[in-house]
Amino acid sequence: MLQRSDYILGESVNLFEQDFAEYCQTGFAVGVDSGTSGLELALAAFGIGEGDEVITAANTFIATALAISHVGATPVLADIAPETFTIDLAAVEKAITRATRAIIPVHLYGYPVDMEPLMELASRHGLIVIEDASQAHGARSRGKRVGSFGHAAVFSLYPAKNLGAFGDAGVVVTADPDIDQRLRLARNYGSPVKYYHTSKGYNRRLDTLQAAVLRVKLRHLDAWNEARRANAASYDRLLSLAGAVIPPPPAAKHSEAVYHLYVIRGADRDGLQQHLANEGVSTVIHYPIPIHLQPAYADLGHTEGSFPLTEQYAGQVLSLPMYPGLDSGAIERVVASVESFPPALDPTPRTLATTT
Ligand SMILES: *Cc1c(COP(=O)(O)O)cnc(C)c1O
Repeated sequence: MLQRSDYILGESVNLFEQDFAEYCQTGFAVGVDSGTSGLELALAAFGIGEGDEVITAANTFIATALAISHVGATPVLADIAPETFTIDLAAVEKAITRATRAIIPVHLYGYPVDMEPLMELASRHGLIVIEDASQAHGARSRGKRVGSFGHAAVFSLYPAKNLGAFGDAGVVVTADPDIDQRLRLARNYGSPVKYYHTSKGYNRRLDTLQAAVLRVKLRHLDAWNEARRANAASYDRLLSLAGAVIPPPPAAKHSEAVYHLYVIRGADRDGLQQHLANEGVSTVIHYPIPIHLQPAYADLGHTEGSFPLTEQYAGQVLSLPMYPGLDSGAIERVVASVESFPPALDPTPRTLATTT
């Protein structure tokens, strides 16, 4: 690659795209510079923009909504279903209006949305479905890979995802050759041939160096996902004995989750997080403020109470350490720390506070 000065849309990009399309059981894959870009370009490829509404989950990373906004459309949020982390199909149906053009289901934390009924609902209303599979590379619903159900699907390849580059990257998959062509033009200045431009495209290409890294890492993805599943099973088993917190719901029937995150819920979540930090266990909250309560989305006109379940979860969720290389000893230590909460009165501090 370096000897050939093959830095831009080089051979590695083609090869990664072929490998990833095959992995997802879709016809085409188009490498882009981030997941957010992929969502934006995919929406635009279906002609979605000004005046259109796109329904997505209230409980997702904000990038899903930002992409909808950036093509000029309006994000319409739907709450999650009870005892799941993913979008409620009944809420989606209620949110459909004459302006609705598309649905973006999000396979959050690695849990596949049950795609068959969702596709059925979409086709009854003539809607486009773009899966946001940024947290679910390799997950399956009814035996099929996520990404192979929708009219298109987007995967972020940000370093911390199940399949991650050594920097920002993303990929869009589709079975539709026209959408594939539109995406290829849009990511590369609208240029089918060098210095000839048929549309006002962007520079949103997947970097060749990142593609080379991703091609190698893709070969390990199934084994890494298997390790994540084994870790989740260990957590499930140990936490069910502890009983102090609510372990994550099981994956939906007929589906295989890939545990991008292992998310528990607790009544005193902030206290638990502080306690775990004192014990040397670092945790993250995905996500502390729902989209509709972010200042950036004040214009949607929602208030507290608009999406009760999403709001309840935002106050309770805590992501425990989860990565393929996590060993069983570490999992046991994390669970022991969870179990020792609330800490005994008058605890001896285990870490010295930093004072200034
Ligand atoms: C990471 C992520 C994105 C954004 O991807 P970037 O590559 O960071 O732009 C979008 N949606 C979801 C659900 C994500 O987790």
